[in-house]
Amino acid sequence: MFRTSLAATALVMTGLPAMAHETGIDRIAAFFEGADIVSGPSEVECTLSGGATTSCFQITVRPNPPDYTPGPWCPTNIADDAEKGGIWFLDGKAVEVDGDFIANLAETYGDTEWQLFDKDTGEIRFTGTLEACEAAARPDVDPDYQNYCVQCQPEYLPEDASVTYVIPMHPEPADEPQPTQMGSGVALNGVRLDGPAPLDAILGAHTIAPFDDCGGHVNTHVGYHYHAVTDCLEGGQATVDAGAGTLAEHGGQIGIAMDGHPIFAHLMADGSEPADLDACFGHEAEGLPYHYHAGAAGSNQILGCLKAQTGCTLEEEGGTCDASRRRGPPPR
Ligand SMILES: [Zn+2]
Ligand SMILES: [Zn+2]
Repeated sequence: MFRTSLAATALVMTGLPAMAHETGIDRIAAFFEGADIVSGPSEVECTLSGGATTSCFQITVRPNPPDYTPGPWCPTNIADDAEKGGIWFLDGKAVEVDGDFIANLAETYGDTEWQLFDKDTGEIRFTGTLEACEAAARPDVDPDYQNYCVQCQPEYLPEDASVTYVIPMHPEPADEPQPTQMGSGVALNGVRLDGPAPLDAILGAHTIAPFDDCGGHVNTHVGYHYHAVTDCLEGGQATVDAGAGTLAEHGGQIGIAMDGHPIFAHLMADGSEPADLDACFGHEAEGLPYHYHAGAAGSNQILGCLKAQTGCTLEEEGGTCDASRRRGPPPR
């Protein structure tokens, strides 16, 4: 009898309701309403970077912002004004890539080997084909593409190109903050919020790979992606419980980080700096659980680090996420 009652007790224990999951997936779906969705979001099991097995949402999106057309990136002549080009990160600031900027590169970087334009015609050398943009964007830049303005056009990618994100529904603590090299997160319009662009490698080959005015450019691995958060991203409803007043002050959530924490704009709605951000650019506010604020647009850091265990970016829709396995270096 004693044994039986023990067993009965165990049954009752395991029969207890798990932590309520509310309707988290509906919130995630509402958040990504403005994205070009291929499938999802749906709830899946996942293994995070620190080995935690938990519940994630999985969403497959095309990297096309539905509300604007990406570009331009490279101006074509040194006489071009800022409308013909994008932006670049210089000394922590976002600066216009116009004809003058290209003409003055040698002076700007104190290196006479910079020569991106034809001295007679003023025409700027830029990558105009898929092959050229791939060769120029390799970590070991093809010597033929030294001194080029590097851009990949979105139409170089197959029309059905998509990226699948697997992100924890509820953040799981990590032993230490995670680097953002594998990506910072995904914006509410379905565009990847990337880690830092490898500026030293790009500049070392005497190339510039401009971002458009929204902070994005294209590679052939994930398509259009952001290296800066600008006012192109208008905040949407939050994926976490938060007081309406706090949310109004924060100006709406612009993305979800790879560890499941929400991301808000760099500045508060009134233009002030958020207070007491940690090294990852996160903090807690009254009525709002831990969340990030994107770094300044020219800082080349959308997030400083990821506070909790991260999920996965998958290149195939049907894959499963085990972020605890080591991976190769990320594409740029
Ligand atoms: Zn905040
Ligand atoms: Zn990039």
